[in-house]
Amino acid sequence: MVFGGLVLLAVVGLIGWMLFVKLDGGPPRIALADDLAFIRADQPLAVTVSDSGSGLARVDIRLEKAGRIATLAEKAFPTPLVGRSGAVAEETLQTTISPRQLGLTDGRATLKISATDASWRQWFSGNEATLEKSVLIDTRAPDIRVLSKDHNLVSGGAGLVIYTLSESCPEHGVSVDGHRYPGQPAGAVFDSDASSVHLSFIALGYDKDPGIGMHVFAKDAAGNEARTGLPHYVRKGKFQDDVIVISDRFLQWKMPEFEAMIPASVDPSPPERFIWVNRHLRRASYVELTRHTRTSDPALHWEGDFLRLPGSARQAGFADHREYRYKETVIDRQDHMGIDLASFKRAEAPAANHGRVAFTGDIGIYGDTVVIDHGFGLFSTYSHLSLISVAEGEMVRKGDVIGRTGVTGMAGGDHLHFGMMVRDTFVNPVEWWDGAWIQNNVLNKIADAESELQYLN
Ligand SMILES: [Zn+2]
Repeated sequence: MVFGGLVLLAVVGLIGWMLFVKLDGGPPRIALADDLAFIRADQPLAVTVSDSGSGLARVDIRLEKAGRIATLAEKAFPTPLVGRSGAVAEETLQTTISPRQLGLTDGRATLKISATDASWRQWFSGNEATLEKSVLIDTRAPDIRVLSKDHNLVSGGAGLVIYTLSESCPEHGVSVDGHRYPGQPAGAVFDSDASSVHLSFIALGYDKDPGIGMHVFAKDAAGNEARTGLPHYVRKGKFQDDVIVISDRFLQWKMPEFEAMIPASVDPSPPERFIWVNRHLRRASYVELTRHTRTSDPALHWEGDFLRLPGSARQAGFADHREYRYKETVIDRQDHMGIDLASFKRAEAPAANHGRVAFTGDIGIYGDTVVIDHGFGLFSTYSHLSLISVAEGEMVRKGDVIGRTGVTGMAGGDHLHFGMMVRDTFVNPVEWWDGAWIQNNVLNKIADAESELQYLN
């Protein structure tokens, strides 16, 4: 009797469990891996469906446009008659949507996903979950048309590229040897109505050789990417060698300024501490400087050639290969990424051209520094200043005094370290002091692009 009762209890329990599972009232859950506002030419799709009750029975994923229905994925799951064993609680369906192969044209469409579970509810058809999402099918890559011609670059030099885009793109610009220089809308630079025209200053690192690749790239909101090669001619730049003698007197005078920045692990000997500053603080100072050259106004703030520190003598050139000697031993080698100009002590330093003050402050080896944004990624920098007389955000005119020369940072005597940058690349200031270079490489290009635009319109 007792045994029969136990069997009955077990059977009732089993039926109860089966009904509990099979009368699961919760519908499956559907989750898209990405936001998926757009469907591009080869759009990856990942959908995760799950049902923690009776398990999944069926999933259908479709794309509908103007009455046309394309099946993207469908799957039926094994549904056990009893319990949950063998049921699928979760599955991720992955596919690549190719609208053209599916016969769907560009435009608005609806992504429809439905999933049912193995529940006996709804007259044994299961609980159903649906997800509908409006998407934009965009399979066309943007059209890039390059308006500028003759892209002649010298290593350590700058250049300009002008191009139009057929649609607005969140990402576009010029790739020079894999280094990307973003472009910006340049409608304001041109007389013709030209909302599609974009401008990008580019640079070739001083250590780059001819034989590099250059192209314009553009990626639209859907993720379709286009590239157009740039005809270009690259010449190798020539740079000088220089020897810097590091004396004990210099170390005793200069090193206290950097002590607070040197880690405790660095050897206490003064030349070792100098080497740490010259290598690691130099690198960190560069990184800090480039934080202020990432965003630039979409305007050509400047006009004509850039100014040099008046009445000054050149003490060091751009990309000089420097050898640092301490007591006849070479202790370090670095390249000098600006031009050193010396006048009298605490001389007034003028803004080289019109622009917006992007940064003022102390940066490691550069000391007290001013950075001016001239627009479209072009910047000038003024370092080792003893006094800064402008504020961040201020618009300055060519010749306005921005501060006074000095010896802050890694400077052995009063001078101005003048730098020009295109985004995060140091370029040779000599080009920007040269009116003929500016005429040939910037102004004529803009004028040519202008006439090309008028011809196109
Ligand atoms: Zn310098």
